[in-house]
Amino acid sequence: MAHKILILPGDGIGPEVVTEAEKLLFVLASQFGLEITLQHGLIGGAAFDATGRPLPEETVTAAQASDAILFGAIGGPKWEKLDRLLRPERGLLALRSALGVFANLRPAMVFPELVSASTLKAEVIENLDIMFVRELIGGIYFGEPRGIETRENGERVGFNTLIYSESEIERIARMAFEVALHRKRRVCSVDKANVLEATELWREVVSNVVKDYPQVKLEHMYVDNAAMQLVKAPKQFDVIVTTNMFGDILSDLASMLSGSIGMLPSASLDENGRGLYEPIHGSAPDIAGQNIANPLATILSVAMMLRYSLHELKQADRIEKAVQKVLRDGIRSADIYTEGMTLVSTQEMGDAVVAALQ
Ligand code: NAD
Repeated sequence: MAHKILILPGDGIGPEVVTEAEKLLFVLASQFGLEITLQHGLIGGAAFDATGRPLPEETVTAAQASDAILFGAIGGPKWEKLDRLLRPERGLLALRSALGVFANLRPAMVFPELVSASTLKAEVIENLDIMFVRELIGGIYFGEPRGIETRENGERVGFNTLIYSESEIERIARMAFEVALHRKRRVCSVDKANVLEATELWREVVSNVVKDYPQVKLEHMYVDNAAMQLVKAPKQFDVIVTTNMFGDILSDLASMLSGSIGMLPSASLDENGRGLYEPIHGSAPDIAGQNIANPLATILSVAMMLRYSLHELKQADRIEKAVQKVLRDGIRSADIYTEGMTLVSTQEMGDAVVAALQ
């Protein structure tokens, strides 16, 4: 049966990079036997402009009826002054929640051809391959109560709540251990158990769950040390499992080890393997509309989609090999360009990957 894919381009460079990924899906369907049906939907600022809401009900319904969702990016200065509940970012958080995609998988890897694009020394990052498993629909980004209130003395206070239940911690820990079974079987759980009770419980639950995975070696690390270690000696890590906020920050840090935020894909999975796939970058308003954004993070998100939700492993390999070939051939978008390489636009990069598939 054909896989049902929902495409949500979003705002800024979202539509530009998603167009290139879609081009690839068309070619896989028309020439390599991939059976898919594609549907398009609105999210973020684009959805607000069209419907007055950042996540229309039709988008949620279509997403829930799909096998996988390919998402570009949302946000931009145009919508920053809107009421908090109407901002584009709310649309994405609400979609993740509605889909129950609790596990965010973000690889931080370095393509050999791009070692020189990193700000770190080659020997520190060569062959780097870390998988972040970030809890995505709990913790301080969703905890209640939250808000900004005025106290009796007239001063305003802002507050959020960091809260994790045992079951939330257990399911993300299991996801991390399962992922580790297909890798080097090492998991580092990152918390701040010395200061935050919520992560004291996190550490306790993760330590219990690992008993079901005797093949996996677990270590614990405080988040401040993890930030330092990721820059100092990142190759010590295999799988890192952590909370929503710590994962947000650390995975962005790790993305820069690999040279450009424009290279890294991500998957957000529910309990049944349905997933929301997206590049880790945002809508990049500073370069939107210029046909210079790097579409490879989105193209590699399609490869993750084929692997994790659609179980089309050969098609996933095909895309990853094509991307490697393009990089080997010296083809570069502006963000990863170095002297002597061939500088290409967003569209030309998409075309190059399509050509490398043949
Ligand atoms: P950003 O990721 O959009 O951009 C950070 C920097 O990286 C910019 O200089 C940008 O030009 C560059 N960059 C990002 N993607 C690139 C690509 N594919 N190719 C080349 N260069 C690229 O982050 P930001 O500037 O902090 O946020 C901009 C907007 O995006 C904000 O509205 C923010 O809320 C939103 N945002 C959305 C998501 C998402 O949709 N998942 C994630 C982060 C930020």
